[in-house]
Amino acid sequence: QSAVSSSPSDGNNLRSPICCIMGHVDTGKTKLLDCIRGTNVQGGEAGGITQQIGATYFPAENIRERTKELKADATLKVPGLLVIDTPGHESFNNLRSRGSGLCDIAILVVDIMHGLEPQTIESLNLLKMRNTEFIIALNKVDRLYGWKTCRNAPIRKAMMKQSKDVKNEFNMKVTQIVTQFKEQGLNTELYYKNKEMGETFSIVPTSAISGEGIPDMLLLLVQWTQRTMIEKLTYSEEVQCTVLEVKVIEGHGTTIDVVLVNGVLHEGDQIVVSGMQGPIVTTIRALLTPHPMKELRVKGSYIHHKEIKAAMGIKITAQGLEHAIAGASLYVVKPDDDLEYIKKAALEDVESVLSRVDRS
Ligand code: GDP
Repeated sequence: QSAVSSSPSDGNNLRSPICCIMGHVDTGKTKLLDCIRGTNVQGGEAGGITQQIGATYFPAENIRERTKELKADATLKVPGLLVIDTPGHESFNNLRSRGSGLCDIAILVVDIMHGLEPQTIESLNLLKMRNTEFIIALNKVDRLYGWKTCRNAPIRKAMMKQSKDVKNEFNMKVTQIVTQFKEQGLNTELYYKNKEMGETFSIVPTSAISGEGIPDMLLLLVQWTQRTMIEKLTYSEEVQCTVLEVKVIEGHGTTIDVVLVNGVLHEGDQIVVSGMQGPIVTTIRALLTPHPMKELRVKGSYIHHKEIKAAMGIKITAQGLEHAIAGASLYVVKPDDDLEYIKKAALEDVESVLSRVDRS
């Protein structure tokens, strides 16, 4: 705590942490996002599978509002939370590893009725490989037999309302899942009992249908990142930006969806992105974001910006993006920069992206 309050970056110089959602198919990743956003993407998608990467920005006010019952609003220091929605389908392995590489923290979703499943373990391995912090959302608690709904309540408040049988079943499931994690070499514990965060991973019970535990999950994400990642979350002028998707949008031509991890982008900035036929040098025509809380991939109107500070999911329109490559970095060319040097960096970057695709 004291390390946080004495930090020079205390105050308003932090960027939003970037979070991604991982886990086995059907554990409720899409539904969890829908629940915190108040939208229904899951219902509108074939088979409920999220087929594209999107990014949703949750402003701090929203998080404060959602977590007020936990009486912790004074501890919010970051401007918000940017959640990257990673696809749950097996064939999106490359996208998934790309998404997890951008993230400061991940939510690993586990279905309380199913425990650890093959893709849970696959996600765990990716997180370990990348040294990414994560919390575990133990989802679908409402499916415990006899569960009494307490809409959007903090989990301990909801648990107090449950019968002895529900509490027993809950405890049994948690014990089983903690054991399964142990078999994977990980110590885990319910977050409110966890005294050794950092060594022991925290479990937050949730329901994406009735919202129990969602306040706890949001607060834990924000508190944990701002307590342990101050340096990483300190805003810097150096642009760090990754292309997530290349898409043709009616009225805008070929656009790129990017995650701006750090720094600032302006309309009119000269940029370099990697392309199939070599680096593309172009100029940002428009910086667009969806309306707050709505995901990038949900169709609708966009907000235009003169400039955008990190961290944010942004749609960029510019000329010549037809052959841009997803997964590569975006570079900004400043007046004193050597364009040839940046083009070379873009070329090297694309080689590493393409070799990653080959391997998966
Ligand atoms: P994903 O594949 O991980 O994105 O999973 P989805 O979000 O598509 O959810 C899979 C199924 O589980 C859907 O039918 C959801 O309605 C359901 N589901 C998700 N979360 C919950 C939950 O917390 N409780 C219950 N009862 N069902 C859920």
